[in-house]
Amino acid sequence: MSRVLIVGAGLTGSLCACLLRRELQSRVHIQVWDKARGSGGRMSTSRPPDSSSHSADLGAQYITATSAYAQSHHSFYSELLSSGVLQPLDSLVEGLKQKDGSKDYMTPLGMSSVVKHFLSQSEADLCFEHHVTGLYCRGTSWEVQRKAGGSEMFDVVVLTMPVPQILQLEGDVVQMLSVQQKQQLDGVVYSSRFAIALFFPPDVIFSFPWAARYVTNNHCIRYIAADSHKRNADTPGRGPSLVVHTSVPFGLEHLERDKEDVQPIILQELYKLLPDLPQPISIKCQKWRYSQVLTSVPDCPGQMTILDRPLLVCGGDAFSHSNFDGCVESALSVLSVLKASL
Ligand SMILES: Cc1cc2nc3c(=O)[nH]c(=O)nc-3n(C[C@H](O)[C@H](O)[C@H](O)COP(=O)(O)OP(=O)(O)OC[C@H]3O[C@@H](n4cnc5c(N)ncnc54)[C@H](O)[C@@H]3O)c2cc1C
Repeated sequence: MSRVLIVGAGLTGSLCACLLRRELQSRVHIQVWDKARGSGGRMSTSRPPDSSSHSADLGAQYITATSAYAQSHHSFYSELLSSGVLQPLDSLVEGLKQKDGSKDYMTPLGMSSVVKHFLSQSEADLCFEHHVTGLYCRGTSWEVQRKAGGSEMFDVVVLTMPVPQILQLEGDVVQMLSVQQKQQLDGVVYSSRFAIALFFPPDVIFSFPWAARYVTNNHCIRYIAADSHKRNADTPGRGPSLVVHTSVPFGLEHLERDKEDVQPIILQELYKLLPDLPQPISIKCQKWRYSQVLTSVPDCPGQMTILDRPLLVCGGDAFSHSNFDGCVESALSVLSVLKASL
């Protein structure tokens, strides 16, 4: 039985684990490691400190299927729709540009439920707070080191974290890259932004008609979502949640500042835009240093193989494009490499 490590419990990592299990069943032992305390990655859903308000999506907001991807990724969409993880997005999103033939979907339980769905199907061993710091090639295996100390051996390693975090790894990874691969990875560019989730008490009812709104002509705020409303999840006894994404220029300008220092600036702008907004009972701020991929790896088939034996392969939205379908493309591509190797 081959021991496979997937680094990253975001959408790409969860899809890789699930597809690999379905393909090779008991012939592989799959572990998924993530440095965070839970799954989701950039599809994270934040819970309030108590259950008096709804959860909020701090990263990805909804899934848009173009007509081409609705066909080529039909099995993924129908699986998520039939299990209730996805539902059509039918509430008002002001400023959302409708593309010909595309369909928008939301997640009643939050975006991380998409990732959790595929992870649960994978029957992989999930290890959170497992921060990978180095990879060393030892004969026919990879020795994978953790920040907390200690290391484990694997036959195959799949890296799905953002590219700059791959390039920060100690050990043999960077040295094994060809000159062309190094140039390709160095050329990947991400946008950066801040996100804030505000959780309100149960008696709060928002006065605005929209579920989400793209903001134009504001240097700080780009997007606001009444998150529970967007997900048709408003229920009595639970307060609504609101999500704010900053613009990319604002994110870049304040990137090196602590999020605690940036949060009041964003809130001040928010209350200028929505003066009637009541006070929340709690707030969570997130800095997305690696938000969406602006420049992906050029001419890339969804993955990059760094070494054939022992296999080391990289995947993720930087190797395709930065959304649900980009992650599916990448995971399918990683799967074909794994199948050929295992
Ligand atoms: C603000 C924002 C809005 C977005 N909006 C949308 C949207 O509306 N629709 C859409 O389809 N997409 C959207 N996206 C893009 C989408 O979220 C990403 O394309 C997708 O989530 C990427 O998944 P991934 O698995 O490739 O990477 P990630 O989700 O980044 O997963 C990588 C994982 O690796 C872990 N990790 C990193 N380094 C290490 C390490 N050294 N050791 C162990 N673990 C590590 C991280 O904790 C993370 O969980 C948005 C993204 C952001 C940030």
